Amino acid sequence: MEIQEQNLKVKITYDMLNTYQEIPFEVPAGVEGMEISFTYEMKPKEGERTFEKNKLDFGVLDQNGRQVGVSPEKRISTYISESYSDWAFRKVAAAEGTWTVVIGVFFLLKQGVEVNIGIKFYMKETRWLKGNPHTHSLHSDGHRTLEELVRMAEKRGLDFMAITDHYTYTYPDALPSTKKVCLIAGNEFTTNRGHMNFYCPTLPYTANYYVQGREGFQKISEEADKNGAIKSICHPSCHFFPWELGFEDFEWHLLEIWNSPMRADNLESFALWDRMLTAGRKVSAIGGSDYHQNYAGVNLITLPTTHVYSPSNTPSDIVDAMVKGKVVVTAQPDSSFPTITCGGFMCGDTVRLDGGKTVKVNVDKLKKGHTLQVIQNSEVIFSYKADKNIADYSVDIPVDKTGYVRAQIKHMYSPLMKVFHKIAMRFLVPKEAKDPIPEFIYAFTNPIYFE
Ligand SMILES: [Zn+2]
Repeated sequence: MEIQEQNLKVKITYDMLNTYQEIPFEVPAGVEGMEISFTYEMKPKEGERTFEKNKLDFGVLDQNGRQVGVSPEKRISTYISESYSDWAFRKVAAAEGTWTVVIGVFFLLKQGVEVNIGIKFYMKETRWLKGNPHTHSLHSDGHRTLEELVRMAEKRGLDFMAITDHYTYTYPDALPSTKKVCLIAGNEFTTNRGHMNFYCPTLPYTANYYVQGREGFQKISEEADKNGAIKSICHPSCHFFPWELGFEDFEWHLLEIWNSPMRADNLESFALWDRMLTAGRKVSAIGGSDYHQNYAGVNLITLPTTHVYSPSNTPSDIVDAMVKGKVVVTAQPDSSFPTITCGGFMCGDTVRLDGGKTVKVNVDKLKKGHTLQVIQNSEVIFSYKADKNIADYSVDIPVDKTGYVRAQIKHMYSPLMKVFHKIAMRFLVPKEAKDPIPEFIYAFTNPIYFE
């Protein structure tokens, strides 16, 4: 990650005693997070309690002049970003513009003091980030505290995780402090007509949690739009909680087609997605483990894992990348990873066909017995079953039709996985635990659209 630095030297003179000095500094565009350190000599007399010393407080105001935090004398360095800030500094984007350091001059020696303000800007860098956009904590029906969820995510190497408790919303500043995992504040709107995740930097809606019919939902939906919420329709074809509030007449952004362990209703969600795409709708699909607890000792927090190609590890960029369809979903953080590209374009992008193009599908770690499929407008146009493990498989496919092209990997469960699946299903969907296990999807990319 590129780091840019700025250093400011400020001379505090005796006539500034009991004043607040406002020192502006410029934050460039494209900063993921910044570290601000303040250093000056306090020079108190050894072991003596005295006002004969320098004592300065430091505050930081953002580009709109709003207080981000204040650092008392001993805390002389702070990191500020949208997903993590040190001490009691707020989680705010290190947005471009003129920020201000405020120096409160409390005690000062006659000769004054020089203050060094060092600012390091950690610049954004677009990369693949692994995460889980759907989890529950003790704030609803999950079995873990937020801190326990964070520790689990850290252990599994996740870069981001959304907290989407039923009925309730936990504000970003109230989420645990972790520099490793970008936490996204959310809420799972939960009714007997379907579930929808709202990703939102503030309370998405003030209405009561329940709705009576479509009109009630419409109201909540519109309020969430005004608050900048991004909406994901959860497990749309779920056999318990399917989405029954329609797909028209309101704004929505994401379809969660792979919810928790693969099962028959997820395959129905895939089919629904293909129908929407074939009808010409651009729909970004994600996965979500919908983690509540471990089952029979199996931790399912990363099943599946949603990867996003994001300019930074901050909630707004991650959610935006999901909306743009820069998404690949895999069974686990480090399992087979497919990508689809067309020249400089990737999944989520729209490409002009201009008579014909070629897409490149690449799979990192294609496993023996797994089948790579390329799908165009609901039809399989390429299929390859690996007869051995392949570290890096790639294939070029000509495209001569408008519509969408996407890639997926299918597989039959191994005997061991079949046992795990049956156990998980006994807890999750008991009435389907005995059904035969079909060929499941192991990973998929979002489409490239051709016009
Ligand atoms: Zn859920």
